[in-house]
Amino acid sequence: MGRGPAQGERRDRLIALYAEMAVLTEPECLAFCPRPMTCCEERYCTIAMEFAAEHWDVELVPTWHRVLPMMGPDGCTVAPHLRPICTAHTCDICEHGAKRGDPVWTERYYALKDAIAALEAEILGDVFISG
Ligand code: SF4
Ligand code: SF4
Repeated sequence: MGRGPAQGERRDRLIALYAEMAVLTEPECLAFCPRPMTCCEERYCTIAMEFAAEHWDVELVPTWHRVLPMMGPDGCTVAPHLRPICTAHTCDICEHGAKRGDPVWTERYYALKDAIAALEAEILGDVFISG
């Protein structure tokens, strides 16, 4: 896998897009969920650890949490681009394919998701983001 300047810029762009996605999705959970982060499961943490190692050469170090190895005192410890499934997930998207009553939010979500998918395919050779 090439890691020249152009590749580095594309990866920086992908990281920035995932950060934007997290800014969009995290408030959905923090503001509206009666039990925030209860959809986290050990298997998703494991997927994040394997994904980070394989595609970003990043070793994610487990926390003290007894059930969720990536959970810390202030929430998930993993950068948004290293946990594609988690970052893109909201209940409304999963269950309704949109944020109900908010077409602007929904349009932004899918624009970001499309841009991320295109970059992932280009850089990583596959698409990993999924809501
Ligand atoms: S995805 Fe759903 S269950 Fe999980 S934290 Fe967000 S609102 Fe709660
Ligand atoms: S990686 Fe983070 S967001 Fe995903 S399941 Fe684990 S603690 Fe939750």
